[in-house]
Order: sequence, then structure tokens, then C-alpha cells
Amino acid sequence: MTTETAARETIARETTARLMIGTDLAAAMVERAAARAKVLQETTGVQPCLATVLVGDDPASATYVRMKQNRSKKAGIGSRSIVLPAETTTEELVAELTKLSEDPEVHGILLQHPVPAQIDERAAFEAIAPGKDVDGVTMHSFAAMAFGEPGFRSCTPGGILRLLEAYDVPLAGAHTVVIGRSPILGKPAGMLLLASNATVTYTHSRTKDLAELVRQADIVVAAVGKPNFVRGSWLKPGAVVVDAGYNEGNVGDVHFEEAAQVASLVTPVPGGVGPMTIALLLEQTVDAAEAQTAARR
Ligand code: NAP
Repeated sequence: MTTETAARETIARETTARLMIGTDLAAAMVERAAARAKVLQETTGVQPCLATVLVGDDPASATYVRMKQNRSKKAGIGSRSIVLPAETTTEELVAELTKLSEDPEVHGILLQHPVPAQIDERAAFEAIAPGKDVDGVTMHSFAAMAFGEPGFRSCTPGGILRLLEAYDVPLAGAHTVVIGRSPILGKPAGMLLLASNATVTYTHSRTKDLAELVRQADIVVAAVGKPNFVRGSWLKPGAVVVDAGYNEGNVGDVHFEEAAQVASLVTPVPGGVGPMTIALLLEQTVDAAEAQTAARR
């Protein structure tokens, strides 16, 4: 547990809220994925391989990619690193992703978001073969999430669902307010919750009376990208609060100290949703490697 998570735990201890900690849960998921990667390699000679594609030199994106590669390595998953210049065109990126999609030695592909403005990000995502979309960013994966069918999940939303399940949060009939509707986070999070029989309200920058809507929620998922945006006074007493936000200085999208006074369960930042995201990415890379290896036999 990090110092920050420990500090959040101290605050939570003085309130009614319990923390929903992702760290240990994520570590257990990675351990299981690593064990499966080892068995696959021992029995077939195939080491799962995740290709990461980074376009440009945004330092935060470079750090995220490096972190994902390091975690992969620790779990016995190989990685292929593709770094393209900031002036890469959509056509060049699509060509690179198509090549990786056709490469039998690559099992999963992660295109680091966001890409530079001149690139059509949707076109790039769609160049990832659905069977290698371990980050859950293609329309194919989105449809699977929306229909409640098997498929790769967007990693942060999928991680949120795993966290809610692990903490036995009842989803059926629960009114869930999702703040944010981005294609990689808010939108698929709402779809997964809907597929789990929650009643879902999507909110975004044009939503009117946001605080009033949040006050009706049994579960709040904050995916806004604004530090301390959700205030304690917006929450219904006993609400479950999932903070998917990550802003500079280890600050979430929810005002943690205030939320902890009102919520029954709340995720800390860091140590809540973040570790679950990477754990699911590794788990899905092993899923992809197993499926592709079985299909080739
Ligand atoms: P994004 O693409 O910028 O989307 C933000 C969403 O918030 C948009 O849908 C936007 O509405 C909405 N929004 C903005 N201002 C609002 C307001 N005043 N009221 C209500 N909604 C508002 O961001 P994202 O990629 O989804 O990321 C969201 C947060 O999650 C960020 O803090 C990011 O760092 C974090 N994140 C964490 C992980 C992780 O692994 N833990 C992974 C990815 C992202 P419109 O659609 O109307 O513009």
C-alpha cells in the first residue's frame, strides 16, 4: 500500500466509508495471469506478447506505456515497443497497426491514447484486429460490452466492474450515475453496468443539474478529468463512489475527504481503479495469447 493510500485509509477510518482498494485485488489478478502465461509458454513454447504503440513524445503517455511494459515483463509477458514520431499520419499509424494485427508473434495491441490531433483516432483503433484488442477500444469490443457478450473489455471500465464485484456491491437495479462519456471510459463503463442490470444515467459537460442527478445515485462513477470535481454534498448518504479520475499530484475527480464523510464505499486515488486497469490489460493479453495459440493448433 502506498503512503497516499494509507493516508486515505486513515481518513476513511474516521468516517463511515470503507475503502475499495484495487492494489491487492490487481496483484492477485496479475499473479494469476503470470501463472497462465508460464503454463502457455511451458506447454506450447508461446510467450504472450503485448505490442505498445506510442505516437509522439508526450511525457505522461510515455510514462504510462513504460509502466505497462514493466508490469508485462514482471508477469512473464513479452512486449514489443513501437514509438512513432509526433507528425505520423493516420495512414502511417493504420499501416503500423495493421502490420501488428497480422503478426502471429503479437497477441495484444495497445495504442496509447491520446494520439496527436492530426490523427483520426477512431480509424486507428479500428485497425486493431478484434482478437488482439486487449485494451477494448474497437467498435467490436464496445458492441460486445453493450450486448453483454464475451469479448475484450475497455480496461478501466472492466477494472471498475471487477472492483465492484469484489466488494459485493449489488448492481441489479442500482441507480448508477456515470459522469463522463468518453469512448474509453464513461461510455463503456455505463454499458457494462447496464449489462449487469444497473439503471444507468449518463452525464457529461452539457448535463443540467448534475449535482441533483448525482444525489439520486446508489453508485457514482466519476470519469471527468477534473480534480476534486465531485463534492461530498452531491452524494446520497451511503452511496458507493468510484473515482476513475487521475489528475496531476495524485488527485482524483472526487473530493475524497468530503466523499468519505458520506459514502459507504469509496475508491482511493491512487490505489483504487488505476491498478485494476493494468491488471485487466495483462489478463486480457494472456486471454488473447491462449485463444490465438489454440486457434492455430
Ligand atoms: P475525457 O476524454 O476528457 O472525457 C471527460 C468526460 O467528462 C467527457 O465526457 C466530458 O463531457 C465530461 N465532462 C467534462 N466536464 C464536465 C462537467 N463540467 N460536467 C460533467 N461532465 C463533464 O477523459 P477520459 O479519458 O474519459 O478520462 C477521465 C478521467 O479518468 C481523467 O482524470 C483520466 O486521467 C482518468 N483515467 C484514468 C484511467 C485509469 O487507469 N485509472 C484511465 C483512463 C483515464 P463531454 O463529452 O460533453 O465533453
